[in-house]
Amino acid sequence: MSRAKGFISFEGIEGSGKSTQAKRLAGYFRSKGKKVIHTAEPGGTNIGQKIRELLLEPENHMEPLTELLLYYASRAQHVREVIYPAILDDTIVITDRFSDSTVAYQGYARGIDLKLLSRLSDIVNPDLKPFLTFMLDLDVEEGLKRNKKASKKDRFELEAVEFHTRVRKGFLQIASEEPERVKMIDASRSQDEISEDIIKIIEEQWR
Ligand code: ADP
Repeated sequence: MSRAKGFISFEGIEGSGKSTQAKRLAGYFRSKGKKVIHTAEPGGTNIGQKIRELLLEPENHMEPLTELLLYYASRAQHVREVIYPAILDDTIVITDRFSDSTVAYQGYARGIDLKLLSRLSDIVNPDLKPFLTFMLDLDVEEGLKRNKKASKKDRFELEAVEFHTRVRKGFLQIASEEPERVKMIDASRSQDEISEDIIKIIEEQWR
């Protein structure tokens, strides 16, 4: 699977600041005159948005395999409708979550065989890996606290702290396996400090 240069993902637990930092990075690229889109998973398309509602609705008691396949269904649509065309059009794509989230949540936290995830990825997003992934690392309880302001908790925010701890460990494992692509960011700091770090890495890598 090759890393597409104009494709950047943000990963991390709930409330780690992914969407805040993705928005800031999109603003940075725009200020440099580059074409950029900021998108998110699950979602990113009309169909993906409907799948997202199914996935996040707290009343849905969903089988882990159903959950997994819905994530891949959302991604199948997202890569074909949005990500591949944008990359071909020289537009930078910044996504809030991509396949590392599937490995961390459905693999490490739910316990689905990682080999199955890898086989599905080969079908759903062949030849597509982010060029850079910013892994926003934060204490689980701090992340859940930051997200408390949201009026209604989604199905994942309602999971126990132990679940989110397994997710975080999964993310750390992924980062340790692919240090060139996955950049660990200490997300306990201020928004400005974090985005300064991110832009520094972008400027180093974007030569
Ligand atoms: P995520 O997309 O990872 O769930 P968000 O970017 O939505 O996280 O941020 C979750 C909440 O935390 C928001 O209310 C946001 O304003 C706040 N937030 C984001 N970054 C920071 C930070 N560095 N320090 C404190 N609060 C933050």
